[in-house]
Amino acid sequence: MIALRCHQEAALAMLRSSLARGKRRPLVQAPTGFGKTRVAAAIVERALAKGKRVLFTVPALSLVNQTVSEFAKLGITQVGVIQGVHELTDPSMPVQVASIQTLMRRTMPDCDIALVDEAHKLFDFYGKWFAEAEHPIIGLSATPWTRGLGKLYDELIIASTTSELIEAGFLSPFRVFAPSHPDLSGVRTVAGDYHEGDLSEAMDNANLVADVVETWKKRGENRPTLCFAVDRAHAKHLQTCFEASGVSTGYIDAYTPRDEREAIAQAFHAGEVKVICNVGCLTTGVDWNVLCIIMARPTKSEMLYTQIIGRGLRTADGKQDCLILDHSDTTLRLGFVTDIRHEQLDDGTARRSSRDERDEPLPKECPSCSFLKPPKVHACPSCGFKPERQSQVESEDGELMEITGAKRTFSMADKVSFYGQLRHYAHSRNYAKGWAYHKYIERFGVAPGGEVHNARLRLPTPATLSWIRSQQIRYAKRSEVQHAVA
Ligand SMILES: [Zn+2]
Repeated sequence: MIALRCHQEAALAMLRSSLARGKRRPLVQAPTGFGKTRVAAAIVERALAKGKRVLFTVPALSLVNQTVSEFAKLGITQVGVIQGVHELTDPSMPVQVASIQTLMRRTMPDCDIALVDEAHKLFDFYGKWFAEAEHPIIGLSATPWTRGLGKLYDELIIASTTSELIEAGFLSPFRVFAPSHPDLSGVRTVAGDYHEGDLSEAMDNANLVADVVETWKKRGENRPTLCFAVDRAHAKHLQTCFEASGVSTGYIDAYTPRDEREAIAQAFHAGEVKVICNVGCLTTGVDWNVLCIIMARPTKSEMLYTQIIGRGLRTADGKQDCLILDHSDTTLRLGFVTDIRHEQLDDGTARRSSRDERDEPLPKECPSCSFLKPPKVHACPSCGFKPERQSQVESEDGELMEITGAKRTFSMADKVSFYGQLRHYAHSRNYAKGWAYHKYIERFGVAPGGEVHNARLRLPTPATLSWIRSQQIRYAKRSEVQHAVA
């Protein structure tokens, strides 16, 4: 059996419960760093154990072999591939892996369950397939925020969020600086994101490009860095400027031949190449040790933004954090990646950003060092600069954040989160049903009602875990005393 960590096991439990409640098209959201492939393989393995046939789809031909080899590493080898000419073609195998491009041109293979990887990438083909298939179809995605996804899938299962994974230590924390602010006033918006040609004109100019290089030299700490550009010309321009200032820099785009790409990757690992300029082709499937992200590509897309920053959030030995040099104002527009959250799938009626839905304040820029502070933080955590107080309310909030601890007040969101964490903890340890309920009462003196009662499972933070432990220790001491007395 594929061994799973408790948060991965909890994701499976949520999926099982969703199917048991009669859902037929659940979509599992698992961010970078969650171990999505491992969870997918575990779903496949458990289905095989029940004698079921599984169809696993990927959104590009190039991902078929990668999936097959990842499954093989996890012990899933009864795999056939559906593709023009492929050495693994074998319709009798209980697991079939296929790209959507191939499936569109074929009759659908028989299966008892289908998994759709990278489910946020939509194809017209899905409409007919989803309407006709009688078996469950399970979507998997790190960023399931595409418009209209809710027309295909009937439930969003949030296995975890980026901020939960950072708090639990599965992803790296990050710091963001906004060293320059591009003028995007003349840039049109097409299909929800900036027009690429306009964007290229706005970003690919000598001043901005020079500023990217200067900022990296000043603040980049010589870290291994991925630099995301608007288009190929912009990426090459950035590379040339980095090189001209003595920084060994690579360039990769979608057309870079495989062997060249691998050579650049190796040089990057060896520290011979410090910066790699690219055009979004490194947003998925790259598992490099990246300690700095340069965002030179403004975007309105929460998905693209999350995918780009996600390249820097993998943990590694000795890695303290990821440095983000945001020259695109994306963080100031969309908030931190950890703020992007949608509790529901988009049904296609009204497109709203995560921020609109939750009405949360945006990060603020430190006027002294351009560090982006969370809202309500007064003194800059990076340089210590304290801006002149602008209003009494803000200053009080600022102070409140500083003296958390003894007199901390809990918001409704804190309480919902806490109860969700207790439930997760209880679930992963098979505790009795009322455990989380009673723990919550111990903490807050009231029962978890209303919104709190329906809190979804989420990974316990270190603070919650230590609170649970402290309660256990207190309880153990108390019963020792009672035994001694008796
Ligand atoms: Zn500062």
